[in-house]
Amino acid sequence: MPVDSLALVRKAKEEALAGKLLDRDTIIALLDIDPWSKAGEYLGQAAREVAAAVCKNRAYLWAAIGLDFRACPMSCNFCSLGEHWGLVGEEREFSETDIVRAVEEYVRDGVRWIVLRTTQFYDLEKLIELVPRIRETVPGSYQLVLNVGEFDAAVAARMARAGVEYVYHTVRLREGIDTKFNPVERMATLRAVNSSPLQLVYLVEPVGVEHTNEEIANAFLTAMQFGAVVTGAMARVPVTGTPLGRLPVVAPERLAQIAAVTRLAAGYRAPDICVHPASKLALQWGANVTVVEKGAIPREAGCHTGSCWQGFDAATAKEWFAACGYRVYREGIKG
Ligand code: SF4
Repeated sequence: MPVDSLALVRKAKEEALAGKLLDRDTIIALLDIDPWSKAGEYLGQAAREVAAAVCKNRAYLWAAIGLDFRACPMSCNFCSLGEHWGLVGEEREFSETDIVRAVEEYVRDGVRWIVLRTTQFYDLEKLIELVPRIRETVPGSYQLVLNVGEFDAAVAARMARAGVEYVYHTVRLREGIDTKFNPVERMATLRAVNSSPLQLVYLVEPVGVEHTNEEIANAFLTAMQFGAVVTGAMARVPVTGTPLGRLPVVAPERLAQIAAVTRLAAGYRAPDICVHPASKLALQWGANVTVVEKGAIPREAGCHTGSCWQGFDAATAKEWFAACGYRVYREGIKG
């Protein structure tokens, strides 16, 4: 194993455990390590040791419900729901009854974060009004998350008052190139989240084989700049018929490495590191959160009304976490 890589990983681990955020050059150098090499394995092991110290081997489930299976006029180059790609047939939207049922199931499954996810122009007022009704109908210690379009500080404040605790939002990799958004618009929403009591979840996404280490490092550092409390890495899953559908999916080893680098780089600042799609390797390399999802999913053509995407459900996630030395909890560490 190259001595330089060994020393780099050792220093990164020490800094993470000392509560330091890694600098951009170090992050890029860690991303440059070959995930199939001995040094890659060493990097993963170091990230797992940091996970044990930072998240105390507690794992959590992030469970999403894609509320609206609807053609979205933003037509991002990676998304099956983009109107231009013509993959959305008959549109459908989860009713309040459907949503409540899905939330109940996730609560029974021991999920911590239940995510209501929509396409860009879903009616936010309708969603904000729904949140207290979900809370009243479905008791439990779960935390509600919204993953929606752009909004301002006033809307963020209303979300928080309604009972939303977290928002998932990002500046995606190649925002403005593979999407029609100006990154500035996305950052305005991140600022609105920052101005409110809402907590931010921001993964590096959607990672593909086309993205450089520099782009990945910049995305991670933007997440930190906006105070993300959960970060990690999510792959671009190629959907045939979308412009990026012909590029292959990033290898699980590379995705696991990126998640491991976010674990080392974020240290105590973002104690929970998420990987999607999950692999046992990513969990072994320090990711303690993963995703189950149903409903409208941007990663495939069609709408999953019943089973979870790719059959990856809460029971499977729990099994995988247990095999990797974690235990799944419904609640985060207090205090
Ligand atoms: S990623 Fe979001 S904004 Fe882009 S097309 Fe899909 S639903 Fe619309």
